[in-house]
Amino acid sequence: MNSFSSRAWRRLASLSLLVATASFAQPVLNSANVPMLRQVLQAMPKGGDLHNHLSGSVYAESYLRYAANDGFCVDSLKLTITQCATPEQIAANPALPAVIVPASTVFAPYSLLYGQMQDALSMRQFRPVLESGHDHFFNTFGKFSAVSKGHVPEMLTEDVWRLASENVDYLETIFAPDFGKARDLMKFTKPGESLADMHTAIMQSGQVPPIISAARAVIDGAEARVKSDLHCGTPNAQPGCDSTVRYLYELHRGVPLQQLFAEMIVGYELASADPRVVGLNPVMPEDSYISMHDFDDQMKMFAFFHQLYPKIHLTTHAGELWPGFVEPEGLRHHIRDSVMIASAERIGHGVDLTYEDDAAGLLKTMVSRGVAVEVCLTSNDVILGVSGKAHPLRDYLAAGVPVALATDDPGVSRDDMTNQYMRAVQDQGLDYATLKRLARNSLEYSFAEGQSLWANHSFEGFANACAGEKVSSKPADRCAAFLSANTKARIEWRLEGRLREFEASWK
Ligand SMILES: [Zn+2]
Repeated sequence: MNSFSSRAWRRLASLSLLVATASFAQPVLNSANVPMLRQVLQAMPKGGDLHNHLSGSVYAESYLRYAANDGFCVDSLKLTITQCATPEQIAANPALPAVIVPASTVFAPYSLLYGQMQDALSMRQFRPVLESGHDHFFNTFGKFSAVSKGHVPEMLTEDVWRLASENVDYLETIFAPDFGKARDLMKFTKPGESLADMHTAIMQSGQVPPIISAARAVIDGAEARVKSDLHCGTPNAQPGCDSTVRYLYELHRGVPLQQLFAEMIVGYELASADPRVVGLNPVMPEDSYISMHDFDDQMKMFAFFHQLYPKIHLTTHAGELWPGFVEPEGLRHHIRDSVMIASAERIGHGVDLTYEDDAAGLLKTMVSRGVAVEVCLTSNDVILGVSGKAHPLRDYLAAGVPVALATDDPGVSRDDMTNQYMRAVQDQGLDYATLKRLARNSLEYSFAEGQSLWANHSFEGFANACAGEKVSSKPADRCAAFLSANTKARIEWRLEGRLREFEASWK
């Protein structure tokens, strides 16, 4: 919904966007209009978030609340949520209770621990003194993992609601609803076995179906909780009730190959069994030892699974690297291999593009294969220190590679999708027409099931069943039937209607 009510206010807001888009030429005027720009871009319907880690999307405040409610403790020295010490541990170390304190104590009046824990669990007030942005960012996940696994329904509610509140109503969130059980399946494999033999052994173990069933029940439970917590279907329905949520199974590229292989089996089987799980995405720092050392083997595994499960979508973090993080050779091929060997349909980040061998040829390949890039401007800034002119966003756009803006981990970075659009305007100089294209891309290149509304990726006209239709009026029966049979077309139709309403409010 457009939150503006006064026509004059809308005119002012519109003006601020026009001024801000000329930010490189008139930085003073731009900074004077930042609050207005924020209002405009928050109200702008932005389509979907295609790169969103569920646990990284939840704020530290929520994790501390879960910890207190569940009777967990916090380690006041390591600034981590943890199990409380057992009587045996305290007997062995009587100083423990002074360090491992009940999580509820962070909420006490005058407690300094509350702010210290918020800082530790996120990028809040981060200063690169004792650790880098990269290390602090990735270390947060281990500091809240004790409670994140037990609160998926509340986490999903927070994620969906907050995005919908800023007019993002399609979400592909990345998480592993088996909570690590898949990795145990590696015990059915033997060292030196071929990929085909490993696949057969794990499938024949009989242990895959129960993991799939339990994972689907986790998603069922989370979706039911979202509906009830947001009061969907009642007069008090909250933002998020009309959102469409899909899931990307989270693989861990930093674990040993056999374990990753076992995760892949569960991921591909889960996506085959449950249409809400639309694909897979390997996560964890791309520059870690195992991620770098096993990269080529991991690509071969993706190629193997692509043959077996050609319809299951894959997007991969690729090129979330920058000189200095890895040896120079490590910057030369991750994006290309992810596209050419793993058959990734989308790339997450792609920051080190210009360090790839034949980057121009790679861009052409991405255009011809329709491979989109999920660009996460805040994340790239705080983790890799890459922003402004150093960021390859404009190279992708100039080459015609489809781009969608994404949040990555808005809870950890304490940011949101609107601010990605703010950065795109202020830091990258994009205009409204380009932002609108990126919003449309976020649905066009989503893994939502069904056909597109559009006749082509240039968004110049609707496809056959809806050709000539206007989003301002009720679709004819043929188009309505097409929309109800194709989720992707349906969410695109909704975005077009919302964009029309948003733009009309400017005039
Ligand atoms: Zn990510």
